[in-house]
Amino acid sequence: MYNSNDITYPLISWYKLYKRDLPWRRDFNHANTPYNILVSEFMLQQTTVNSVIDHYNRFIDRWPDLKIFSDATEDEVLEMWSGLGYYSRGTNLLKTCKIINEQYQGKVPNSMDILKTLPGIGDYISSAIVSIAYDMPSQAVDTNIQRVITRYFSLKYDDPTKNKKNVQDIIFELTSHDSPREVIQGLMDLGSKFCKPREVHCKECPLNDGCVAFSNKFFDYSKVKKQKKIPIKYGYVFLIKKSNGSYMITKRSSKGVLANTYQFPTSEWQEEIQIQGLIKSSRKNYGAYHEIASINHQFSHFKLELKIINVTKYNSEFLDSSITFGGKWVFPDELNKMGFSSLMKKVFPYLGY
Ligand code: SF4
Repeated sequence: MYNSNDITYPLISWYKLYKRDLPWRRDFNHANTPYNILVSEFMLQQTTVNSVIDHYNRFIDRWPDLKIFSDATEDEVLEMWSGLGYYSRGTNLLKTCKIINEQYQGKVPNSMDILKTLPGIGDYISSAIVSIAYDMPSQAVDTNIQRVITRYFSLKYDDPTKNKKNVQDIIFELTSHDSPREVIQGLMDLGSKFCKPREVHCKECPLNDGCVAFSNKFFDYSKVKKQKKIPIKYGYVFLIKKSNGSYMITKRSSKGVLANTYQFPTSEWQEEIQIQGLIKSSRKNYGAYHEIASINHQFSHFKLELKIINVTKYNSEFLDSSITFGGKWVFPDELNKMGFSSLMKKVFPYLGY
């Protein structure tokens, strides 16, 4: 058994002095607090805090409360999400806010069970909202919290389900004992500052007095993922221009990478070994073309190299079928207002070649 005070007292004292100054944390007594936390938690899924701050600030400047945001269109949200990746988070956030506006009078629910019925919200986001926005006990466990608690108690990592359940039980106990908001955010900050995946700064850590890993000088790194070799994929992006200066664009499918974003028509993205076949089928579809440049993009699980192809003579049958599937002609000065991903924005400088 442990005494919750041994953790929460030094943790919260340290947090009050050294907490990260993050824009969604600045005013917890504001009516918009739950909306701000909801937006930040959607953005923070699979994305680092530093990458989120700028997007979050622009998002809140444009849509300062949930009611205003509920009137946004999907294209506007995708345009704002450009550069953050995992675009389905943006479309799910919009769907969730529309439901909250219509069915919950614009107030973000404080019940995990209700929150989990909304698009894009699972165990973690619902518990983070309950604890951070409403200061209520929960089992909010992100990767930072899991690592800190696992090391503090020297829990075993070998059974991930059991490990997570143990950590969740401990977090529920700690957040029932002291301010949930400060406990959760304190552990997140401590995990990012001292108790990092591959390095620990135990001498400066406020929890070092009771930490079993520190006293045993044994830090279980077994769950720290080894850097995997990231595969490279290749493909083509086609600039197809009409005589009036407009370009053909299409919308990506609602599932998968860059879901629902606009793009210039692309081939499939494939690994090098298959690229020969790709060239042949592309030639059949597009007639005369020449390559003008190539762009690179880093996704979390692969790298992409796209060759930009200027199509000078195209197969009208193919274009007609593109239009049927959602393709349209757009002038270059309209492109910036549409929901293009940061990958496709890299193509913009090559328009007009
Ligand atoms: S004392 Fe070290 S291992 Fe323990 S929680 Fe702090 S940083 Fe992590």
